[in-house]
Amino acid sequence: MAHDLPKAYDPTAIEDHWAEYWVREKLFEQPTPTGAEDAAPQFSILLPPPNVTGRLHMGHMLNQTEMDILTRWRRMQGRRALWLPGTDHAGIATQMMVERQLAAERTSREKLGRDAFVERVWEWKRHYGGAILDQMKRLGASVDWSREYFTMDARLSVAVREAFVRLYEDGLIYRGAYIVNWCPRCQTAISDLEVVYDEHKGHLWEIRYPVIDDAGKDTGEYLTIATTRPETMLGDVAVAVHPEDERYTLLHGKKLRLPLMNREIPVITDEWVSREFGTGAVKVTPAHDPNDFALGERHHLPSINVMDTTAHINENGGPYKGLDRYVARKRIVADLEERGLLAAVKDHVHNVGHCDRCKTVVEPRLSTQWFVKIQPLAEKAIAAVKPDANGNKAIRFVPEMYEKTYLNWMENIHDWCISRQLWWGHRIPAWHCAACHKITVARQDPHRCAHCGFRGITQETDVLDTWFSSGLLPVSVFGWPNVTAETRADFETFYPTSLLVTGFDILFFWVARMIMLGCWFSRDVPMLDGSPRELKDSVPFREVYIHALVRDANREKMSKTKGNVIDPIEIVGQYGTDAVRFTLASMASPGTDIAFNVARTEGYRAFANKIWNAARFIFMNLDRAAEAGITIDRSVLGAMPSVDSAAPLEARWIVAELHSAAAKVNESLENYRFDEAASAIYQFFWGSFCDWYLEIVKLRLGFDNPASENSTRAALATLVQVFECALRLLSPFMPFLTEELWHAVYNSDLPAKSIALRGYPTGDIAQIDSHARNQMVYLTDLIVETRAYRKDKGVPEREAVELYVVGLGGHGQAGHPHESADSLISENEIVIKKLAKVSAITETLLDDPSYEHLSWRPTRLTDIAIGYEKPLDVAAERERLTKEIAKLEKAAASAEKQLGNPAFLGKAPAHVVEGLRKQEMDNRLLLEKARIALASLAPEG
Ligand SMILES: [Zn+2]
Ligand SMILES: [Zn+2]
Repeated sequence: MAHDLPKAYDPTAIEDHWAEYWVREKLFEQPTPTGAEDAAPQFSILLPPPNVTGRLHMGHMLNQTEMDILTRWRRMQGRRALWLPGTDHAGIATQMMVERQLAAERTSREKLGRDAFVERVWEWKRHYGGAILDQMKRLGASVDWSREYFTMDARLSVAVREAFVRLYEDGLIYRGAYIVNWCPRCQTAISDLEVVYDEHKGHLWEIRYPVIDDAGKDTGEYLTIATTRPETMLGDVAVAVHPEDERYTLLHGKKLRLPLMNREIPVITDEWVSREFGTGAVKVTPAHDPNDFALGERHHLPSINVMDTTAHINENGGPYKGLDRYVARKRIVADLEERGLLAAVKDHVHNVGHCDRCKTVVEPRLSTQWFVKIQPLAEKAIAAVKPDANGNKAIRFVPEMYEKTYLNWMENIHDWCISRQLWWGHRIPAWHCAACHKITVARQDPHRCAHCGFRGITQETDVLDTWFSSGLLPVSVFGWPNVTAETRADFETFYPTSLLVTGFDILFFWVARMIMLGCWFSRDVPMLDGSPRELKDSVPFREVYIHALVRDANREKMSKTKGNVIDPIEIVGQYGTDAVRFTLASMASPGTDIAFNVARTEGYRAFANKIWNAARFIFMNLDRAAEAGITIDRSVLGAMPSVDSAAPLEARWIVAELHSAAAKVNESLENYRFDEAASAIYQFFWGSFCDWYLEIVKLRLGFDNPASENSTRAALATLVQVFECALRLLSPFMPFLTEELWHAVYNSDLPAKSIALRGYPTGDIAQIDSHARNQMVYLTDLIVETRAYRKDKGVPEREAVELYVVGLGGHGQAGHPHESADSLISENEIVIKKLAKVSAITETLLDDPSYEHLSWRPTRLTDIAIGYEKPLDVAAERERLTKEIAKLEKAAASAEKQLGNPAFLGKAPAHVVEGLRKQEMDNRLLLEKARIALASLAPEG
């Protein structure tokens, strides 16, 4: 046997094999162009780098399925396709992971020391990091593994350092004391985006601050303030009221005694204060609240930090020193109450920020951090998305609504806090001088202060925000800042990348920062012709496709607490990667969340199985043909099929269907309509190819009859050619199944190492023979209707029936669009006979009385009837008719009575009477028919 395909479709067996083959054969590597290649347009796409600590979840699976479909499709279209993979060092997440390990070993990062700890993280990374990439390999992602990066690699670290130094030199990075979101657990500043807010039922405490006179004596008056965090009062430096709030006019310029701390603080006025909130008087704690900080700056107030980095009260908190913030809160409230200074405690619902990583309540805290001055970076990033004078956009968002979200955020952006108090990450390349206290920022580690030359300098302990390095990826992966003669072609060819596929959750974290940094730094690399890089070519990507969420079958968000998380690897183990990919694709369209239902995956596994069986059928026939000495011309394989008008209907039709499906798939993918593309392929492969074409083509194969050798050969050639094409059409969606079957089609005489390296089918409108498509609609409808008719009549499945059709004499029947029913039926007689189980087809004329006894049914083509009468049970029929007659007689009597009643006729509206009369007439006709039928039955007994 020439074709060796196992009987059963087993995805695990074939998928492992091909996944390994694709990596081993380096099939998807895209080397740096040398200039000698053809000028094929490029398609480049960056994998959003998963955390090195990550495991594949359903969101990744969707994201990667979409990217892989698009990359495989573009590659097959002949583009120079590059999908570039890598992982992110994920500062906080990775540090937490290793810290947990250390805790289990009863040690800690502090005990280990910085260098040993960082070495320990590297060790962890070497052992466990990148598991997610192994999962991707198993799932067949067609990425270029030779270009795999890690954001802490030396090459990418050079880019991070250069970017920092350049921004610092340009005056766009500064260091200063500001209020940041501080996580007391992670011991680091976190960005606004890393804070998640929950509604919290708390309290509003109203506290009396005694008013004092110039001598510092209590006047007996109080000013009552309201706060949600009483413990911060230890750091109060003033109380603010609105200047026009008449309740407090008399207190302007007065002093208060801060309770518990006995500190004198002023009453200040500021328009920022809301008269409606609480009592209209607010305490000012610049070191622990961003608004208070701004207020403090405006009024030149000092800042008193009363908490340490673990949110315990520090030495500035007087008697509360050493207490946890919440313990201190309780104690302070109790002490105030005891002194009669607690005016009221009111229930109050407000939003409380939590650390996204560890869920600890974030403490706004004054600390010295590094910031990126956001202008003019943001300005460029806005211009890149807004339409220019000609209405062109350098970056297009799909769905378009995200453009507004992006612009709105970018237009209200604050300076970016880029320092993190972690040990794992890119350490900030800045050195502090012990002599002049100035800062030296340098590309190479310095040995002395750049300002005074003193040797006593120490490096900044903070590291950079992880998004600072991932924001640089689009330029750094292509060699920036060291774009040399060799790497230049990479940059020229693949930058800007064509597309970014990502989730909404990292639109600001990552997408926005890539746009800012990409637009800023890519200007270093001029265009190939030496001209400066304009904005439209300095963007990191030309399109951003924001994919939807994968939810569970009931449209609920997946969450660990709800226990409805679907593990993609588990589902893949059950149904195969191809079926899972197809499920996701079949539901993916811009802006629509996916309700993942395993029942669908089961269905697509059956789809794969159907194709497998089709392949086995085809190969079996090819083998039989070869035995009979019939071989087909294999040189046509790989091209889009075309057939001449003399070919049998099913051949002309399937070729038309293939071209139509291919056109639809290409068009749908251009618009990110994965769902429509998947549906077009599914309909074609299952509906047209398997259900009809294979069933018909079977009948054209005659291996034992030398007279039909040519038609057999032609039928086989079209069959194989269409099948091979359909495999390529399906390949980006089900890469494993199609690779396996495509290799079997070529049977070791391969034109390429993989189906993924062959051309993608294009639909040629000229090849869409609409006449053949119409004819096939008539033919299949005739067959479907005959089958249904047989069923209604209770014809046993094995029994063939006579089929009567109203002949048209070649002139068409009124009301039927088709004018050559006779030839359609006669040319496809064998098809109708086999597929509808018909023994003979008899043509009758319209109104021929000898066929009047048949009950005719309409089809799209012509009316049909079948010559099958169930052997009649005379007794049962007599009983049925007798009952029918009794019923009709009763109805007739009732109608007669009503219609003979003058009172009724006088009152009833005309249309009611009319309706009743018509009903009565119909009844009488049916009664007549039933009586005749009863009389015609053989006499009783
Ligand atoms: Zn935290
Ligand atoms: Zn110095």
